Amino acid sequence: MDDCLFCKMVAGEIPCDKVFESDKVLGFKDIYPQARTHLLFIHKEHTSNVNQMSGEQIATIFEAIKTHTEEGLVEAGFRIVTNFGSNAGQTVFHTHFHVLGGEKLSSFGS
Ligand code: 5GP
Ligand code: ZN
Repeated sequence: MDDCLFCKMVAGEIPCDKVFESDKVLGFKDIYPQARTHLLFIHKEHTSNVNQMSGEQIATIFEAIKTHTEEGLVEAGFRIVTNFGSNAGQTVFHTHFHVLGGEKLSSFGS
């Protein structure tokens, strides 16, 4: 999609620090990390929020997160978050799942 930051990353037009890539999913480091490990996982097909995604797309992303986290994050623990809409803090309107971990995280919502 034109003018979408994350679609431009998928297309290789904007650089990102990749941690995972398959034909359908991209995982990369968040530029403003909120935890020792802060990754973003996206489906390469553009949707604006999680409710626009098919069950298959969601499953594909979660399989990718599972595969990636099994290579290092499981022991420390992690949190998966998706912000839906600006009231929830969504600022990039290409659906993404934050994976936060690598340290003790604050209680949810605080
Ligand atoms: P949201 O607030 O929409 O849930 O999350 C968007 C995330 O994208 C934020 O955590 C923000 O730090 C991250 N972000 C914004 N611009 C860039 C960028 O150019 N590169 C990377 N790697 N992350 C970005
Ligand atoms: Zn997009």
